Amino acid sequence: MQKIKVILNRVVFVIIIIFIVLLVIESESSIRNFLGIELKDEVIEQNEVQEENIKREKVEIEAGFAGNINIDNSKMNIIFFDVGQADSTLIICDNIVTLVDAGNTYDGKNIVKGIKSLGIERIDYLIGTHAHEDHLGGMSYIVDNFDIGNFYMPFCSSNDFSFYTRLISSLSNKNIPINRVEVGNEFLLGNGRLEVMGVSNDEPENLNESSITLELSYGTLKYLFMADAEIANEECRTWNDVDVLKVGHHGSNSSTSQEFLNQVLPEISVISVGKENDYELPKENVLERLENIGSNIYRTDLDGTLQIISDGEKNEVVKIDVSFDG
Ligand SMILES: [Zn+2]
Repeated sequence: MQKIKVILNRVVFVIIIIFIVLLVIESESSIRNFLGIELKDEVIEQNEVQEENIKREKVEIEAGFAGNINIDNSKMNIIFFDVGQADSTLIICDNIVTLVDAGNTYDGKNIVKGIKSLGIERIDYLIGTHAHEDHLGGMSYIVDNFDIGNFYMPFCSSNDFSFYTRLISSLSNKNIPINRVEVGNEFLLGNGRLEVMGVSNDEPENLNESSITLELSYGTLKYLFMADAEIANEECRTWNDVDVLKVGHHGSNSSTSQEFLNQVLPEISVISVGKENDYELPKENVLERLENIGSNIYRTDLDGTLQIISDGEKNEVVKIDVSFDG
């Protein structure tokens, strides 16, 4: 009888210990969740899985690769790279360099070569608007080949595409943290100012709706970059009258509503779109809406890479016959 009692006591003791251990594990994960460090763990886990499979490449600079792109350092320069059916925009203002998106995976090397041939080695603000391949595909090449100031993109937990895990790995490799933005955040670009107009870090089902949208102010001029934001995003807020609109979602009909355009009224519209793309973008009715408000439309499929040079009072648009499409 005494023996059974001792055994029972030991069983109860072991159960209590297991219970305490489980309690500690559970509370630790709650604390970690509360502190928001769960993402970092995901980064490390994904990195461990991917690291062995990734052959890191340094892209060589080819002088003159960027064709006739000439940067006027006394002015604001915005370059919409022709990256086919994708997005990549370089902003240089007072020697501060911002890159918004980096095309498809196969465009990455070309974008690196193009930017390097402009004599740029550091990107101060690197922004991935949302976790789709036509925006983040080439981003790991950028991270691998430049000195990066700060990196920003919306929260995305469930993307297991290779371009994304490769990017996470590249960031982790250089100890570059992923920063989140909120509406109203500002980035100072010398005399220019970039303001976050929209973003969702709640991982919406349609990742286009997570897009970071940005308004750039320089002198008396304003520029609005809509990434792949949808009409739902356009309806979320009011918008300023701007001079240049980087048209949302490659000219898709799910963006650029009449109500939105009535507020934005851009003199110049830029559409980043692939030649004879499968989606038949830009859509005819979007072009009509832009024409009806008197906007001058430029398209990377027809005009190639586009550079806007601004002194803060007027914009000069330069068409450059060079493609970065991989
Ligand atoms: Zn897109």
